[in-house]
Amino acid sequence: MFSVQPPQQVIVIGAGIVGVSTAYELALRGVGVTLIDMREGAGLGTSFANGGQLSACEVAPWAGPEIPGLILKWLGRDDAPFRLRPKMDPDQWLWLMRFLARCRSSARRERIPHNLELALLTRARLAAYREQFAAAGEALEFEQREKGILRIFRDRHSLADAVEETKLMARLGVEQEPLTPAQCIDIEPALGPAMQRGDIAGGLYSRTDSSGDAHLYSVALAAAAQRLGVRFMKTSRADSILTDGGWARGVTTAEGEVEGDAVVVAAGAGSAALLKPLGLRSYIYPLKGYSVTLPAPAGNAPEVSITDEERKIVISRLGNRLRAAGQAEVGGYDLTLERPRAEAVLSALVSLFPQAGPEREAAEFWCGLRPMTPDGSPVIGATPGFANIFINSGHGTLGWTLGAGSGAALAELICGGASQPDLSPFSIRRFQGFTGISG
Ligand SMILES: Cc1cc2nc3c(=O)[nH]c(=O)nc-3n(C[C@H](O)[C@H](O)[C@H](O)COP(=O)(O)OP(=O)(O)OC[C@H]3O[C@@H](n4cnc5c(N)ncnc54)[C@H](O)[C@@H]3O)c2cc1C
Repeated sequence: MFSVQPPQQVIVIGAGIVGVSTAYELALRGVGVTLIDMREGAGLGTSFANGGQLSACEVAPWAGPEIPGLILKWLGRDDAPFRLRPKMDPDQWLWLMRFLARCRSSARRERIPHNLELALLTRARLAAYREQFAAAGEALEFEQREKGILRIFRDRHSLADAVEETKLMARLGVEQEPLTPAQCIDIEPALGPAMQRGDIAGGLYSRTDSSGDAHLYSVALAAAAQRLGVRFMKTSRADSILTDGGWARGVTTAEGEVEGDAVVVAAGAGSAALLKPLGLRSYIYPLKGYSVTLPAPAGNAPEVSITDEERKIVISRLGNRLRAAGQAEVGGYDLTLERPRAEAVLSALVSLFPQAGPEREAAEFWCGLRPMTPDGSPVIGATPGFANIFINSGHGTLGWTLGAGSGAALAELICGGASQPDLSPFSIRRFQGFTGISG
């Protein structure tokens, strides 16, 4: 990437899952890093309270043939799992047009192998980090639970469609076992009440997937990066990227200018605002989601991470807590927590696991903005016109699943190595040929 030599000092903007992974991976390669985040610590943006799933089995983009129908079906409902809130914002309309153009089976299938490669690299990097922490006399603690992910279906047709999709995943090396309702209960006995109500037509089990707390991970990795010499500037907003011709030379913050030989924009939903003044369209738009976290019920608490395809929520056990997450709203950058939408996630959780009902009062609600690209894959790599400005953002629904792998792959690219996997399918250039809309 750099014709002379790799950069000595890289500025990484954003200390979520993706930014801390990038900073840590660069530091492992001996590069000096300044990590900048406008919040008080790591993992306080969208990485704070997500669904917790590290789900290589579910890397398919959300854009698919069923989505336009679902948007229409749920139109006007306050608690709709998918909601469109039109804004007077050309970025929203351009994003939507691109997203709708991707709502085809072939487009969905096309991204799966690329996302999967990053998900598998994430698995490998998390295992490597654990060893690196152990070698340094530390433990990488983020409540990881390696009990697989179980997808449950209420109707046989959706199950049959999903089983069909697993054939592609199997060819790519990720097995998912089709399960009868009784087998679902063997895997996760806490689903007993749901099965008795006839809520489960069957399931798909991905044994090798896991779940964990992305906020704890971000904090632990940021601390480890600092031990490797990374300078972490907290409560520091990057106002703009300073450029000279086609070259970035630093970043402006309220505290003054920060100099660097390269800049990585890993600012999640804040990425578009940083890139736009440089004439760079990021193709990333926020998709708001909600989560609820409550104490795990005293008896018969779920252990296995669950994706409930009917209720459109994911559920993960994080230590002695239970988290459910869901909802998708295309409605701009507003982070107001709307009670009916948050309550809808809680109600879905309690209807699946009635044993969690008594903990309702202790529920903590949260919402966050998934940084979404139209095609469901992140943007990773250099930017057109600026050889030393890189993007690692747009991980949408999959930032936890793809984050560590994305950090490793980009760090390798920045350091001039042959990035594995090949990052060209994640290049921002893939959006520029879209018919009818200029870059
Ligand atoms: C409800 C919900 C459930 C989810 N469930 C899952 C799941 O189960 N599995 C999964 O894989 N993914 C899941 N995701 C997606 C995942 O959480 C995100 O993709 C991921 O957190 C994005 O990480 P990030 O580092 O890119 O962004 P963030 O975590 O948002 O980090 C970006 C950081 O940049 C900082 N920043 C922004 N602008 C600036 C600036 N100008 N200057 C300085 N700092 C700045 C922000 O403060 C923030 O800390 C879920 C998301 C939501 C909302």
